[in-house]
Amino acid sequence: MPANGHPVSFFENVNINFDKASRYTEHPKGLLDQIKVCNSVYQFQFPIQTDDGYEVISAWRVEHSHHKLPTKGGIRYSEDVNEDEVKALAALMTYKCAVVDVPFGGAKGGIKINPKRYSVPQLQRITRRYTAELIKKNFIGPGIDVPAPDYGTSEREMAWIVDTYMAFNPSIDAQGCVTGKPVSQGGIRGRREATGRGVFFGIREACSIAEDMKKLGLTPGLEGKRVVVQGLGNVGYHAAKFLQEGGCVIVGLAEYEGAIYNAKGLDLEEVMKHRRETRSILNFPGAMNIPNTSDALELDCDILVPAALESVITGANAPKIKAKIIGEGANGPTTVEAEEILLKNGVLVLPDMYLNAGGVTVSYFEWLKNLQHVRMGRMAKRFTETSYDQLISTFEKKTGVHLSADERKRLVHGPDEVDLVNSGLEDTMIVAYNEIREFKHRVGCPDLRTAAFASAIDKIARSYLELGIFP
Ligand code: NAD
Repeated sequence: MPANGHPVSFFENVNINFDKASRYTEHPKGLLDQIKVCNSVYQFQFPIQTDDGYEVISAWRVEHSHHKLPTKGGIRYSEDVNEDEVKALAALMTYKCAVVDVPFGGAKGGIKINPKRYSVPQLQRITRRYTAELIKKNFIGPGIDVPAPDYGTSEREMAWIVDTYMAFNPSIDAQGCVTGKPVSQGGIRGRREATGRGVFFGIREACSIAEDMKKLGLTPGLEGKRVVVQGLGNVGYHAAKFLQEGGCVIVGLAEYEGAIYNAKGLDLEEVMKHRRETRSILNFPGAMNIPNTSDALELDCDILVPAALESVITGANAPKIKAKIIGEGANGPTTVEAEEILLKNGVLVLPDMYLNAGGVTVSYFEWLKNLQHVRMGRMAKRFTETSYDQLISTFEKKTGVHLSADERKRLVHGPDEVDLVNSGLEDTMIVAYNEIREFKHRVGCPDLRTAAFASAIDKIARSYLELGIFP
């Protein structure tokens, strides 16, 4: 809470972080102001027919930065959506794209509804009408603005969007108007799990640096690290799955109905099965129930992954957080006030604009696929396999050593689309982490968020300067 007693809004929170980071760059105020503001804000209303009449729906699309086109960012369906939130999320997208070198400006969309209160046909009507409104104002298109899934939306909504867009714009590149689509509609393999997989790669990279782990009193590597995840949606579920597969022990899981804890570990797939059967994660055999779900953030663990919504770690609960690492799967889960407390307590915060950038990275690959009109790996897979096969045969002939059928199969495997996507994602997350960490040390930033912001501001500023707008 600032001195004037008003709570800091999400967008103000983003801009406080921006201002803090811009002190580590050398750009003029006018240029920094241009980077910070939202370039276009479109707020609109439209009616939909319900069982008992009509309802007016409020919606937004914000394009934060046109320094690169298209702009890119998810669409959120939530009762809590408001203009400030959409602007904050759009701004974060700009910085996120810069951090992972994805050549897009940032954008975000939102529809103020609780999707659980509508039938599937109603959701389809809302989504198609939202898309038509974007088309009317030129706020969507493969070279203009490309939405993706976010909180409350998934492949299903993206399929409705591409179908609506193509009905109005039946052009050859039309499929690139949205990402996160089902594979049958021009989507890419690996996109669904990309954000959670990226969270895993980012945490794994951070934990691999012995010097940093020593400062936290932890051993390097993921093996045995105790993890709590808040939110078991797209991001949280996949992050938990890959962390568990990578050797972590999931000790706590939180959903909106409550949280569960077991110091010996929870089997994620069994918890998901239990939730499907009982419609709740609570009362999972062997686990302790935590009725107040936000208490889960204060559980004893090494790594806390908030992967539900923004502003969940605040000045009030930050002093009680026991985790040594916070991996921000969600956008904006930590307020400025909370972060100051966490940093004082020596917690390593892996910032959202880096850690959850896996989704936009793979969205970029999907967009490239849509514009190229060819599945990645299609041209090279067979050629690679034949070359490796010949190489192994020559090796066997010359040495007399023979590989088993299994070994040969593994070695000659040429890359499929999903192999290339996952490899591109892994490389992006590793390179970006080391770039931010190196920037932090070189410039003397106090924390990784400031370093990520400052490095992003530098890249965007350079892009403006090269346009000649700020000579
Ligand atoms: P989602 O709708 O798939 O999942 C969100 C989950 O959080 C749901 O299961 C919901 O029930 C749960 N939840 C809601 N309130 C909760 C609470 N108080 N406590 C515990 N759980 C709660 O959404 P998502 O796509 O996984 O997005 C989650 C976050 O990640 C958002 O902040 C989003 O902006 C961010 N994000 C998503 C993507 C993506 O590719 N989907 C990419 C980057 C960032």
